[in-house]
Amino acid sequence: MFETAIAGSLPKPSWLSETEKLWPQWKLAGPDLQQAKADATLLWIKEQEDAGLDIVGDGEQSRQHFVHGFLEQVEGIDFEHKVTMGIRNNRYDAQVPQVIAELRLKGRVHAFEAQLARAHTKKKLKFTLPGPLTIVDTVADRFYGDKRKMAFAFAELLNQEALALRADGVDIIQFDEPAFNVYMQDAAEWGVKALEIAARGLSREATADRRGCTTAVHICYGYGIKANNDWKETLGQEWRQYADIFPALAASSIQQVSLECYHSHVPPDLMALLKDKDVMVGVIDVASDVIETPEQVADTIGVALQYLPRNRIFPCTNCGLAPMSREVAVKKLEALAQGAALARQRYGQAGAGV
Ligand SMILES: [Zn+2]
Repeated sequence: MFETAIAGSLPKPSWLSETEKLWPQWKLAGPDLQQAKADATLLWIKEQEDAGLDIVGDGEQSRQHFVHGFLEQVEGIDFEHKVTMGIRNNRYDAQVPQVIAELRLKGRVHAFEAQLARAHTKKKLKFTLPGPLTIVDTVADRFYGDKRKMAFAFAELLNQEALALRADGVDIIQFDEPAFNVYMQDAAEWGVKALEIAARGLSREATADRRGCTTAVHICYGYGIKANNDWKETLGQEWRQYADIFPALAASSIQQVSLECYHSHVPPDLMALLKDKDVMVGVIDVASDVIETPEQVADTIGVALQYLPRNRIFPCTNCGLAPMSREVAVKKLEALAQGAALARQRYGQAGAGV
């Protein structure tokens, strides 16, 4: 009950890359960089285990950015000539590569870090990939001429890598779709379908050897960077974006949904739209350096219990912790685990829950 996990990313150590940036530059190159990525991955697995998390991940230490890390291994993308593009409905400008030809995987994308992580932890292992709709919002299209068509092309590539990750022994594969909260209509009309293609054949039920993994989607209001914080100021007192997306997700084959809750203006009753899904409930604010107390974390879990059965609740962070300081991130991991432990005491027996 109340198994804890993080959304995905963690800060990179200062010897690996620039810190507290969304697109940090690596500080090393070649084999030294590869070794440093491995060292950082192991460091964070240890930190997550020591903090007491139940589900751990690689902290995305091997990718510069959660979307571009995948795109670097895709043929048909020109990384030499990046262009400036407004992303997330022009919320902020990013330097993005261009799609210039038919898309194909060059080979495995995340084998190195997934296999490394699997070899070094006995905990459940979650691995993140960008979702198709978010990818097409983070790359410039000079080839397909149709957002939806390009998203489905990316979905097939994601599926190839996801099946390989499953074979590597990953327990949960999560697709990150922050763009769902920006393009709600696209998300409901075809984004969820593209996601299902990316997740095809992964679940236990879908695999002949029954060695499937859990499929998940993370939908948030972004990292705690200024552009996102300013945008959130414009969304009013009630953030109802999830209401447009959750019905399509509830009807989909995706098994877990990661959502924002603590310090967010999302009306918590929207969680009830996901009754048959596992829900990773955001109990840690990623836009503030203030460390949550275990009581605050347990209180947020108590709010979720009003709308979800207790066995469906997975306390989680609202989003990735990549742009934060290492020290703050470690303390937030500890608060997450301690808060979930307190919630098990509080709500474990006769407590609330439906
Ligand atoms: Zn997020």
